[in-house]
This record gives sequence, C-alpha cells and structure tokens, in this order.
Amino acid sequence: MSPAYVRNVIGGQRTGEPIRERFNPADPSDCVAVAVSSDSAAVDVAVDEAQRALRGWRDTTAPRRGAVLLRAAEILSGCAERVATDLTREEGKTVAESRNEVARAVDLLRYFGSEGWRLGGQMLPSATPDTMNYTRREPMGVVGIITPWNFPIAIPAWKIAPALVSGNTVVLKPAELTPLSAQYLLNALTEAGMPPGVINVVHGPGAAAGEALVRNHRVAAVSFTGSTEVGRHIRRIAEERDARVQLEMGGKNALVVNDDADVVKAAQIAADGGFGLTGQACTATSRVICTPGVHDDFIEALMAEAVRYQPGNGLDGDVLMGPVVDHAQLTKNLEATGTASTEGFTVSTGGQRLDGLLFPPTVLTDVQPNQRVARAEIFGPIVAVMKVTDLDEAIALVNDTSYGLSASICTSDLTAVRMFSEGADVGVVKVNRSTTGLDLNVPFGGVKASSTNTFREQGSVAVDFYTWLKTVYLGWA
Ligand code: NAD
Repeated sequence: MSPAYVRNVIGGQRTGEPIRERFNPADPSDCVAVAVSSDSAAVDVAVDEAQRALRGWRDTTAPRRGAVLLRAAEILSGCAERVATDLTREEGKTVAESRNEVARAVDLLRYFGSEGWRLGGQMLPSATPDTMNYTRREPMGVVGIITPWNFPIAIPAWKIAPALVSGNTVVLKPAELTPLSAQYLLNALTEAGMPPGVINVVHGPGAAAGEALVRNHRVAAVSFTGSTEVGRHIRRIAEERDARVQLEMGGKNALVVNDDADVVKAAQIAADGGFGLTGQACTATSRVICTPGVHDDFIEALMAEAVRYQPGNGLDGDVLMGPVVDHAQLTKNLEATGTASTEGFTVSTGGQRLDGLLFPPTVLTDVQPNQRVARAEIFGPIVAVMKVTDLDEAIALVNDTSYGLSASICTSDLTAVRMFSEGADVGVVKVNRSTTGLDLNVPFGGVKASSTNTFREQGSVAVDFYTWLKTVYLGWA
C-alpha cells in the first residue's frame, strides 16, 4: 500500500510539505504516512485562523453546531473499516481493537452532537421581585488540544467534540507517531461542513509545535493527554499565563484479586487489562495484588492466559496482541524486565524481545512494592504480581504509588467491594471488570500524578472544561 500524505489543516486549507515518515510497527517495509512536521510558525497561523472563525461559530446555535458533529459521525462510520485498517498499520494495535476505537470515535461524535440540544445553564429564583436569575455557558475561545499516539482517533474525538459543540474553535496537535488517524477525524469534520478555521490541525514535534500552542497567548485553554512528565511541563507554562489547563496523564493501575475470587476469571480480566492493547493504555493493568489464598493459583491461571496473547501483526484477525509502537517503547520494556536479577523479582514468562517490535506478554512474580517495576509506568504488556496478607494491605498497596487513574477488584464479597471502592485513591474504580475500557457517558479522569483532577473528560461534564458560567439577572419591571 502507498503512504498517505498528511498535511496541516489551517483555515480550511491543506498546507505544508509532508516529510516525516511513519512505518508500520508490524512491517517496516510498509510506509503508512508521510506527514508535515511544523514548528511554531504554523501553530501561530492556525491560532489566527481559529480566532478569526470564533465569532461565527460561537454565534451558531448549539443544535446546529451539534448537527455538524452528527454528520461527521455518519461520514466516519461510512469509512470505519478503512480507518481501522490504517489505525492498525499506523499504531500497531489489533484490527479488532482499532475497530472498537473507530466505533468509539463515531459514538463520541454522536453523543456530543446530541449534547447540542441539551447544553444549557440553570434558572434560579431571585430575591428581588420581577427578576429571575440564570446562568449561560460561554465558550472559552480558541482551545489547544494535544494528544498521544495510543488512542490516536478516540482521544482527539473525546476532546474535540465537546470543545466544538460548546462553541469553541480548536487547534489540534496530534502525536507525531500517528498523524493519519487524527487526519481521518479532521476529514470527517471538514466533509460534514465545519466552517474553515473552526477546527485546525498542526502536525509536528511536541517540543516545537505542541509547546508553541501552549505558549500562545490567544489560546484560552489547553487540554492535554500524555505522559506525566510532559503534562507537568505544560501545566507550568499554561499556569504562568493564566490559561485553563486540563491534563490526563500516566497510570500504574492495580487489580486486586481477593481470596474469594474465581481465579480463572480474574486471570482473564488481568490479561485483558495487562496484555490487551499491548499494555499501551493509560488504564492498563500493570500491577496485580493477590491475597494469600489465591496467589499461586492466580499466577498459574495468568500464565495460561498469556499463551493466548502471543504477539503478531494486528492485521491478522487471529492475533490478540499487536507489536509495541516503536523502538523507544521496546527499549523501555526490555529495560524494565532486564533488572530482574539485580532487583530480585522473577520473570515467569516473557520479558525477551521476539521478532522486530514484537514483545511477549510478560508476567513478573516475587515483585516487591519498592521495586521499579512496581512503581514506574512502563506502558508495555508487563504485569507485576505481588502478594499481601489481607485486603487492608492490598488497598494500602493500591494507593502506594504517585499515580491514581484506574483500579479494580475481583471479588463477590460486598464488604470487600465497599472497602475497595471507598479506599482506592483513583479516579475510576471497577469491580470484576478490567482496569481498561471506558463508557463514554460517564466522567473519566484520575487523581494524584495521573491528572490535574479539576475538570473531568467524557460524559456531559466534559463541557465544563470548555465553557465558563456567566450569571444573568433579568428584571422585567
Ligand atoms: P507524550 O507525553 O510523550 O506526548 C503526548 C503529546 O504531547 C504528543 O502529541 C507530543 O508531541 C506532545 N508533547 C511532547 N512534548 C511536548 C511539549 N514540550 N509541549 C507540548 N506538547 C508536547 O505521551 P505519549 O508517549 O504520546 O503517550 C503515552 C502517555 O500518555 C502515557 O504516559 C500514558 O499513560 C498517557 N496517556 C494518558 C491517558 C489518560 O487519559 N490519562 C490516555 C492515554 C495515554
């Protein structure tokens, strides 16, 4: 297949000379995309265009704004299979995972498109006669959106859709590794009739294009998803100039397997959360904490599950796990498992490089809470199993991390469910479900080093970040 040429979209014009090649992580002979690599100059022009388009878009009624998103959903849905195939070629996840992600992007456009009919404020009584008070949601203005490579179409969609329906204009800076997936979303929005300048995309390196977006004084709000390190840097810049900032960042998500759990089911849940998506999900299960009665049986069951996740080319329909995204990520995985003898944990399965960018599902046992594999986000299909004496200790260990994104427990004991859901310091708690996987209609976000923990994403509360409340006192006599 020949590569797609991906240009910036600025003020409705395709601009820039594509130079940066992206190869399929499962097949180095397959050049998937050649994209523009811009610096701050292109970002500044994009912000100008977004500023110019703001008045007209803000004055378009919310249902009409939503209607464009609804049309874009149908357009994206119409080419979903091609987009999913290219997403797999570009990012590496299995084609089944890509289909789910594209379907999620379509649903997000539908969900927030419909929000156009519901966006509103609150009406409240006034203490003054012949007066009523109400609030209006005002858009922030030009919004900068910076996204990672691991959900290259769903994350742009879950940020762009609430931003647009609430009357903002947008400049998107997608991850360098996945320019094509984001472009499909842009194409659908453009074809759906989005006025020029309302949605712009600038491709380029984070330190140049991304940072220019954060520094631009006309960008009223910045929504970022990515690593904690980059997120903290962005927060410092944005806060310095009093811009609103939303960060969703890394995780070190734990699954607790309680003594009463069905270990086979728990192992399936752990494998889905730890090896699915090649472990490259912010909510991936990277720690499993077992109480003593299930520890040994759980490890045996997880090793049996791991066999099913042998990696391969994600376009092969039978493969449950694709390659890692690039050499840098492969090195991180190998470095993490390579410390087994010095740190004193056991690599019970996996840990070694296979062909190319294929890395096997990896189970680490005898892990101690102070070891790096139990603390740092690795972002690979690596599950560190730890043993504790009881549920109290398990919950303490869940919380013994700088991160706080997602955590789950396998149990049918209601007391354990209550203790865990109240005691886990995370933004998302699950019971008998994988730490990965989200519904789009409920709030999503983390605490601690996983998030700014101010505004949540997804669900109807997602528009809070993209709007501010104005209070109107309306007297009629
Ligand atoms: P990353 O932080 O390296 O990059 C994310 C984005 O930021 C990219 O578009 C990049 O170009 C840009 N960027 C890099 N430096 C920048 C700078 N100085 N200024 C502005 N922008 C800059 O992250 P990644 O490797 O693309 O993604 C993996 C990370 O994302 C993991 O840590 C994962 O946990 C996290 N993630 C979090 C969530 C969540 O919702 N919490 C979801 C998905 C991924």
